[in-house]
This record gives sequence, structure tokens and C-alpha cells, in this order.
Amino acid sequence: MVQRLQYRRRLSYNTKSNRTKIVRTPGNRLVFQYLKKHKVIPKCGNCKNKLRGIVPARTMERSRMCRRKKTVKRAYGGVMCHKCVKERVVRAFLIEEQKLVVKVIKAQKAASLAKPVKK
Ligand SMILES: [Zn+2]
Repeated sequence: MVQRLQYRRRLSYNTKSNRTKIVRTPGNRLVFQYLKKHKVIPKCGNCKNKLRGIVPARTMERSRMCRRKKTVKRAYGGVMCHKCVKERVVRAFLIEEQKLVVKVIKAQKAASLAKPVKK
């Protein structure tokens, strides 16, 4: 006959926070040992891939960790992956360049319109 086991806390439902494993005590009894929830690695806010260089932890644990374990030294480090940051930087650069091009073309047009009047 298999030994029946009792929860050691009051929560009696089979929930995520009530996960257990069975261990044998030195007194040769079987008891439940409560497990912690899975640690999570943060994901990129854009492409949802796991972020590299960040220590997996529960949220409360993370609040107690030092900064070095939660981030990487880069713009958007610990929030976005390097590929998405690169894409953003390039996109912003190209948009700024486009603005400059528009400005230059406008200036050239204005100059070409102004010249015939001088003649
Ligand atoms: Zn990404």
C-alpha cells in the first residue's frame, strides 16, 4: 500500500503555487517538499526572444538583485535584444537623413527659383 501524503500548508488546491515533490526524511517518512515557481528570463519587448546576459529569477527575487544581473550595458539593455536596438538606431538615422535630404532639395529649389529673377 502506498503511503498517503498530506499537504503541509493550508492551501489544498492543485495550483501553480502549490507544486510539491516527495522526499524521504531521515526518519524514513515521506513528506511533501514545496517547490518554487519557475524562474523566467526576460524577453525582448519587440521580437519576444529571450534576452542574453540576464540572470533568470522570479519577480521578487529580481527586485533584490544587483543591477549587473538585470541588465546589459547598452541602450535598451535588459529590455530589447541587440538586433532590435540596431534596427531602431538605423531606422532613426535614416529618418533623420531623409529629413535632411528634403531640406536640401527645398533649398535647391528655392535657389533655382531665385536665380532666374536675378538674370
Ligand atoms: Zn528583439
